[in-house]
Amino acid sequence: MNVRFLDLSVLDDEREIFLKAIDKVLQHGQVILGPEVQEFEERIQEYYGVPKALGVSSGTDALYLALRALDIGIGDEVITSSISFVASANAISLTGAVPVFADVNDDFNINPKSIERLITEKTKAIMPVHYAGKIADMDAINEIAKEYGLKVIEDASQAFGALYKGHFAGSLSDIGAISLNSMKILAALGDAGLLIVNDEQKYEKLSMLRYNGLNSQKVCEIVSTNAKMDTLQAAVLLQRLKSVNTLIDKRRKIADMYAASLSKILKTPYEDSDRKNVYFTYTIVTSKRDELFEYLTKNGIEVKIYHTNLMDEIAYRQHRGECENARELSQKKLALPCHEKMTESQVEYIIEKIKEFFED
Ligand SMILES: *Cc1c(COP(=O)(O)O)cnc(C)c1O
Repeated sequence: MNVRFLDLSVLDDEREIFLKAIDKVLQHGQVILGPEVQEFEERIQEYYGVPKALGVSSGTDALYLALRALDIGIGDEVITSSISFVASANAISLTGAVPVFADVNDDFNINPKSIERLITEKTKAIMPVHYAGKIADMDAINEIAKEYGLKVIEDASQAFGALYKGHFAGSLSDIGAISLNSMKILAALGDAGLLIVNDEQKYEKLSMLRYNGLNSQKVCEIVSTNAKMDTLQAAVLLQRLKSVNTLIDKRRKIADMYAASLSKILKTPYEDSDRKNVYFTYTIVTSKRDELFEYLTKNGIEVKIYHTNLMDEIAYRQHRGECENARELSQKKLALPCHEKMTESQVEYIIEKIKEFFED
């Protein structure tokens, strides 16, 4: 049996739906910020129950615009997690600010105590990453932010639809940034991103930042880039949004199957009682990680070692931070296939092979 880590193929049913949605765009011809972009933003506002959502070109751009909207730039420091995709740190660097890396807890999410130890005069913001679809300890993070007068930007790229005390990922801070690239929970056919904001002023500024700093009179007020969401992607995302809850349920069911069989032999992800995880990945921890990787690969199961300690990346080795736990977890973490196209027998096959590995 072969199991792929992710399957991005578009099945016939979905293909028909997409072709219709795309054809509609081709007919009205408003390919730049056409009506689908606004409709998508409105549907997101409804889904999230938040005042404002803004469609952008990617998750990296969403993070960059969020930082810019909060006036973060040269001379500033932003504390972020040492376990993430490197885009979190790059978005900070692109503003001219310096990312500082805080250590993580055993669930890979940023450790609030580590954040507090790293705060200096230069610190302007905290950027938690809701890793693998589990929301970070937002009450503790917001508490620290309040005490030290810092902004908070959530990198909710891996957590679309996840909940913390009844609130969606991305709606628990000053600005939430979410990637909608084709690998994410809510996935475009290529690149797209999303910003979640709770007030009109920030929304206006983000709208300007989205396209070269132009205001509604097309006058450039601030220096910026081009980060518009494509109408064609919005048309696709509108269709995908309809089934995103079903997709999340499927992933949660797979996670339950894994946990029921594997939690005794290795460290499986845990869900706190005040949270709902969406399992962007199902990431386990074992000291026999490298051997397990080889064994599963040999048996046709595609698993991934990635999102390791950012302070070990060439670009960030000289940066300030704490990463003791992140570094150790990076040697032990392994992401198993966990996606909606998997069959039950594929999940069972993976479980069987992992058990077999630990029995030998
Ligand atoms: C995917 C991802 C991003 C970047 O998103 P793009 O849309 O690929 O630019 C940023 N942060 C995290 C945590 C991600 O997983």
